[in-house]
Amino acid sequence: MAEILLKNAYVIDPISGINGEVMDIAISEGKIVEEVSSKPEVIDCQGCLTLPGGIDSHTHISGTKVNFGRYMSPEDMRAGRTAKKGPMHITSGYSVPTTYGNSYRYSALGYTTLVEGAVAPLEARHTHEEFKFTPLQDSCANILFDGNWGMLRALEEGDIKRAAAIIAWTLNAVKGFAIKLTNPGGTEAWGFGKNVSCINEKIPTFDLTPAEIITGAIRANELLHLPHSVHLHCNNLGTPGNFTCTIGTFGHVPDLNDKRQTLYATHVQFHSYGGTGWSDFCSKSEPVANMVNFRPQIVIDMGQVMFGRTTTMTADGPMEFNLYRLHHDKWSNHDVELETGSGIIPVNYRKKNLVNSIMWAIGLELALLVKNPWQCLLTTDNPNGAPFIKYPEIIALLMSKRYRDAEFAMIHKDTEKRVPLPAIDRELDWHDIAVMTRAGQARALGITDLGKGYLMPGAEADIAIYPIKTDEIDPSAEYEKIIQGFARTEYTIKRGRVVSRRGDAIIDGENTTFWVKPKVPAAYDIQHDPTFMELFERNYSVRMSNYPVQEEYLHRNHCIETETDL
Ligand SMILES: [Zn+2]
Repeated sequence: MAEILLKNAYVIDPISGINGEVMDIAISEGKIVEEVSSKPEVIDCQGCLTLPGGIDSHTHISGTKVNFGRYMSPEDMRAGRTAKKGPMHITSGYSVPTTYGNSYRYSALGYTTLVEGAVAPLEARHTHEEFKFTPLQDSCANILFDGNWGMLRALEEGDIKRAAAIIAWTLNAVKGFAIKLTNPGGTEAWGFGKNVSCINEKIPTFDLTPAEIITGAIRANELLHLPHSVHLHCNNLGTPGNFTCTIGTFGHVPDLNDKRQTLYATHVQFHSYGGTGWSDFCSKSEPVANMVNFRPQIVIDMGQVMFGRTTTMTADGPMEFNLYRLHHDKWSNHDVELETGSGIIPVNYRKKNLVNSIMWAIGLELALLVKNPWQCLLTTDNPNGAPFIKYPEIIALLMSKRYRDAEFAMIHKDTEKRVPLPAIDRELDWHDIAVMTRAGQARALGITDLGKGYLMPGAEADIAIYPIKTDEIDPSAEYEKIIQGFARTEYTIKRGRVVSRRGDAIIDGENTTFWVKPKVPAAYDIQHDPTFMELFERNYSVRMSNYPVQEEYLHRNHCIETETDL
């Protein structure tokens, strides 16, 4: 493998404590090294902003749900067509592009690692097949456990170790990375046409509350020493007044891990709503952000809404049904046996719509009111709040009060009375943005040990070089330049190879899928547990032996083995 020497790179690498130093970076065998030995390929970065490769810790890019979004909206597929160019395949799709479309567009933005936010274990095989065709990013899959009968029965019996054993078997079987809970208890209830509305009320089908599911899963997660924490989509997404549920949920989270958070709460914009209905709908970003500020065991991501067309897709089936009753447009609905649900609805967020305008403000408010950027990461819950190609605009909004004010002047005029955004003067800096788009993600996902998220010797050579000279731009005033600069890297380097150049992929690429295998003692090997086998054989439509995803489905992969406390 060729060696590369990056010269005159203006580096911001928050994990290594580097905040704006001009330096050289040596690359060999896919890693960053102290120095290169032979005659390397030299790239003169000319003082351009050089960051670790971007990491999206919550996005929807692969699997059955995403594919159904593609089927549902032929108009969306037509909107994003690009022709074959060099090694680049044709692509189509705007908010739900083809796999190659996702990969090329993320690479142009400097992203090198993606986490698929929600995968039903029963349908994980499809996700892995699509990871293979997302070649320019490493990937991993959050596995849904919110309605997992095996885990719920164990929690109902108060047996956290058994719950952990079932989680361990499932993650290993489907080659998953982390525990995802989506509307815990609610998606399970949705299988019977119901939902839950409060974290402390019993769910309809098990003797459990959502709060007990969340704290049980958290304790199981820590017993298994998984790299990432529990990844939670709180109950009551998108409901006016849901901020009390969100704050109540955060209040239940114990502080159990000194290396990372104990809970990652995703797309918190959708969970920071005040009011009793849509007529008095308002922002409650302040109390939610305050709760995060006082609880270091919590990391959130924004779930920013941006105006325009997109597609909402989530395992939260009952939420999508409520959204359907508001829009009466296309809707798809799915119940995944014994595991979870899902729903998909195309939407158009409009500036002249008061609710949409308030949603837009709330995401930005969270990022500006959470004091520590390591605790609030930049996402749109792609494509739910907006397609990820909007990230450069979001960065500019966070760095420029003037840009926010200019946009605010265009949205629904009553927004001002319902949100704190106009009074917030904070402008994030380059270092904050580097934390919120890569370093914070690497730490929250627990993948720094894999060499992700930093640029010192030993790290994976995943690097984004942007055509931005930070000393020549006043981000507060020249927000257009921020948008342009982050929209297209000069070079995106993935594991030591230049994979894209000025927005075009230049090689076919090769990704790696990360998955976990907790080392479980024989007494907790659930594969031979008669009760679990009986649950499986009696209730699933597939045989237990056909359930696991064989390693052949994973193109290249890296298994993370963990020691456990079982
Ligand atoms: Zn999501």
